[in-house]
Amino acid sequence: MDLKDLYRDVILDHNKRPRNFGTLDPADSRADGHNPLCGDRLTVTVRMDGDRIDDIRFEGKGCAISTASASLMTEAVKGKDVASIARLRDMVQHALTEHDYEVPGELGKLAALAGVREFPARVKCATLCWHTLDAALGAGAATVSTE
Ligand code: ZN
Repeated sequence: MDLKDLYRDVILDHNKRPRNFGTLDPADSRADGHNPLCGDRLTVTVRMDGDRIDDIRFEGKGCAISTASASLMTEAVKGKDVASIARLRDMVQHALTEHDYEVPGELGKLAALAGVREFPARVKCATLCWHTLDAALGAGAATVSTE
């Protein structure tokens, strides 16, 4: 399966049936994200076990890319510690923006997001959830904007 097919299939699937959609209550932390360029809005809630994400949900309204990206992210980060999540986030960032970046196998389904390279205007749709997660994990403000 080439990258374009993978992109289309995975994005369509996760947009239609978002995983981990909803809100955790109670949650250890939450953050809101907004991408004014496209109008995407997300809320991420997390429950921690030490420095590991025990559970995560996202909710919001956005385009197919922002929804699918958030859905893929929640699947990828559940059970991982903060350091591993930061590594994943950096790999996703490279995959989204660098044409000659060789997408590492450990990205798994997140590799599909590399298809967004073809649409530079949509990169912020795909990174919104990661910025919002960063904020929820305490690396930034509790409300983030991609602007
Ligand atoms: Zn968008």
